[in-house]
Amino acid sequence: MSNTAVPAVEGWFTITDQPCLLGTRCTACGTVFFPRASGFCRNPDCRGRQLEEVELSRTGKVWSYTDAQYQPPPPYIPPSEMHEPFALAAVELAEEQVVILGQVAKGFGVDDLSVGATVELVVEPLYELDGVEHLIYRWKPVAP
Ligand SMILES: [Zn+2]
Repeated sequence: MSNTAVPAVEGWFTITDQPCLLGTRCTACGTVFFPRASGFCRNPDCRGRQLEEVELSRTGKVWSYTDAQYQPPPPYIPPSEMHEPFALAAVELAEEQVVILGQVAKGFGVDDLSVGATVELVVEPLYELDGVEHLIYRWKPVAP
C-alpha cells in the first residue's frame, strides 16, 4: 500500500491494521445504522434524536452473496473501466446483526463463499488517481 492512501468514501470506515466500518447507534433504542445516519433515528417505532458514532464489528456471517453481473452503484464505481469480475456479499455483522453489502476481497469469488461462513473486514485499493490510492472496504473469507 502506498503512503498516500485515502478512503474512496469519507467517513465510512477506518484505515488501520484492524479496519472497521463506522456507523451510528441511536442512544434511545440502540439501533445501528450504516452508512451513518444523522439527525434522527430511522427506526419508525423510535423518537430518538441522538445518534452516536460507533465502530462496527470487524467480522460477520455471509447472509447472501452474488456474482456481480452489473457495475455496482456508487461509491463502488472506479473512474476507469473495471475488467475484473467480482463477488458481492451481504454480511450480517457479528454483534449488531445489521446486514452490510460489500465487495468480496481481491482474489476471492463466489466459490469461496457460503451462507453462514465467517468473513472479516479488510480495506483494499479500489483505484488510483494522480498517485493517490483510493481505498474501499471489502469482505474477506476467513478460513474455517
Ligand atoms: Zn432509535
